[in-house]
Amino acid sequence: MHKKIYLSAPHMSGREQHYISEAFHSNWIAPLGPLVNTFEEKLAERVGAKGAAAVSSGTAAIHLALRLLDVKAGDTVFCPSFTFVATANPILYEKAVPVFIDSEPDTWNMSPKALERALEEAKRNGNPPKAVIAVNLYGQSAKMDDIVSLCDSYGVPVIEDAAESLGAVYKGKQSGTFGRFGIYSFNGNKIITTSGGGMLVSDDEAAIEKARFLASQARDPAVHYQHSEIGHNYRLSNILAGVGIAQLEVLDERVEKRREIFARYEKALGSIDGVCFMPEYSEGVSNRWLTALTLDNGLTPYDVVQHLAEEQIEARPLWKPLHTQPLFASSAFYSHTDSESVCDNLFRRGICLPSGTNMTEEDQDRVIDVLLHLFQTTEVKRWTASIQ
Ligand SMILES: *Cc1c(COP(=O)(O)O)cnc(C)c1O
Repeated sequence: MHKKIYLSAPHMSGREQHYISEAFHSNWIAPLGPLVNTFEEKLAERVGAKGAAAVSSGTAAIHLALRLLDVKAGDTVFCPSFTFVATANPILYEKAVPVFIDSEPDTWNMSPKALERALEEAKRNGNPPKAVIAVNLYGQSAKMDDIVSLCDSYGVPVIEDAAESLGAVYKGKQSGTFGRFGIYSFNGNKIITTSGGGMLVSDDEAAIEKARFLASQARDPAVHYQHSEIGHNYRLSNILAGVGIAQLEVLDERVEKRREIFARYEKALGSIDGVCFMPEYSEGVSNRWLTALTLDNGLTPYDVVQHLAEEQIEARPLWKPLHTQPLFASSAFYSHTDSESVCDNLFRRGICLPSGTNMTEEDQDRVIDVLLHLFQTTEVKRWTASIQ
């Protein structure tokens, strides 16, 4: 039996234990401490942000950004449809109303054209969004300058969900630093990991200080326990911050390796009829977090995912658009096109391949061989899994 190849397994550098020992020796076993401070400083320096607050997850960072922008019940927040549910769930935490925006073909991310239509209509109706969340999927930046300048002209702040794009660059600037707030995730499957964790970044240092306050139960300055607003328990553990410091030291290597993995897949499979790899937009450098591709060869994503699973290889369909999820059945959606929306089309045809940086070349060749064989076999076994 082959060993299992995962989609994106954690990849330790070897230095993590050093910082974890430091936490144990100093007995800083708390959701604050010197390693948390160091991790925040180093991350802020790495991406070029003035401030950073380390938190327990990327989802928590998005929630705090919404709180800082005063998003309240009944407010509207615009968000891409083509993303992981964690981008939109915090909108629901505040009982605000998500409005979904389609993707565009160059980057697969939020369409500035559909966004403009949504902003114009909202303005006409006297109901502008309180915030716009942009997302950089699979490591590629959205057209952030177009999105930010559009939102600026409507006076709407932007939150950049860079959970998947740490280390990527757009127009010479680090991904995650374009909006009023940026967020990163250090979940186990991301390009670097603290097993679970996240970061909120901004040039607004007062807002970052407020985020730390909200993330630690919003305790007012008083000797006794005094509280005037709702707080959360969202701070990152000092032990996990140690893991994060060691991971950040190898971020550049990890980006390089992910890009190599993508290039090897593309070289082996890219010239096959009906196979099309995720484009890289000319203005940016993707971190290629996951190798994503679309199929036009009669195979559905389910055929391929199922076939790979039988060979102990984990692959996934692309994100299912949120406007088609039961959870968001009543939400509005603005399409980029008059026909099938870009995100629905991508979901119908796309898959992600194993892209973890601790994969060996032999592992990757195994994936490539299985796919070559599948793509070249005419008699394809059909799977009846339905799209729900
Ligand atoms: C992983 C991810 C998140 C959430 O991060 P967690 O740390 O798992 O909470 C948010 N948005 C996107 C696009 C993600 O991929």
